[in-house]
Amino acid sequence: MSDADGLVTPGDDQPVPAGEFIRPPGMRSDGEDAGFWEGVSEGELRVQACSACGRLRFPPRPMCPSCRSFQRNWRVVSGKGTVWSFAVPHPPLLPAYAALAPYNVIVVSLSEDDTIRMVGNLVEGSGAAINSVDPETIRIGEPVEVVYRDAGGFMMPAWQRERS
Ligand SMILES: [Zn+2]
Repeated sequence: MSDADGLVTPGDDQPVPAGEFIRPPGMRSDGEDAGFWEGVSEGELRVQACSACGRLRFPPRPMCPSCRSFQRNWRVVSGKGTVWSFAVPHPPLLPAYAALAPYNVIVVSLSEDDTIRMVGNLVEGSGAAINSVDPETIRIGEPVEVVYRDAGGFMMPAWQRERS
């Protein structure tokens, strides 16, 4: 299914049209992670937190895995973390991604809680493409900070090497 803006959501029964990027599944406004995407659109990195025990969790979900409370809120985090792991995707890739290969996919461990990990791309800056950093230069443990980039009609968090 394509939304009115033409973006494609995984799990739909149609193939991704050539030249389009995959839209993350949680970008529907009524999803559990709507607060995350609202934050992204406002330039904030938000992580779901348990209102009972305070523990952060990601990806967003209704129940706290620690104390089983359903009470939850959104906490704005610093957007700083370290590279926990990374990969360099190889073909076959969707056409939109193949045109940018080689690029990197990194897993970032957040500074507020190193068990909170987010997947994204290490880029040179907010306006840079996902292939703007040479994958050969990426090191596990290097400090990064969040940036927001236009991923083809929608905003996505990405990561740059920490500057501050
Ligand atoms: Zn809890």
